[in-house]
Amino acid sequence: MAEETIFSKIIRREIPADVIYQDELVTAFRDIAPQAPSHILIVPNTLIPTVNDVKPEHEMALGRMMTVAAKIAEQEGLAEEGYRLIVNCNRHAGQEVYHLHMHLLGGQALGPMLT
Ligand code: IMP
Repeated sequence: MAEETIFSKIIRREIPADVIYQDELVTAFRDIAPQAPSHILIVPNTLIPTVNDVKPEHEMALGRMMTVAAKIAEQEGLAEEGYRLIVNCNRHAGQEVYHLHMHLLGGQALGPMLT
């Protein structure tokens, strides 16, 4: 059984976070240390530690993460100029929180290696 992270507490609304979207499968909230004018994390409500732990039964939530990313990008005014979606996996990618999450970054021209 994987160990919960702070993201599970955010999903359950047990600790404060700037949650901008939530449904039965995913939650989206603003990153606490933004690396771009818009920096939002989109996470599955169920604990999946890394991409390595993804199973076929997670496909609904993972697909929902993409449709929610597109919806939020539109709401944030990022769609036309563009934005970046990133999922880090394990140490070489710099994953810090072991609850799979997608970074949505935008609002400026992004360099080659923003997290
Ligand atoms: P990773 O490096 O892909 O694991 O990214 C983890 C992200 O979670 C980092 O960008 C952190 O700033 C962000 N983060 C960590 N704790 C919190 C929190 O409590 N609220 C919002 N974002 C957080």
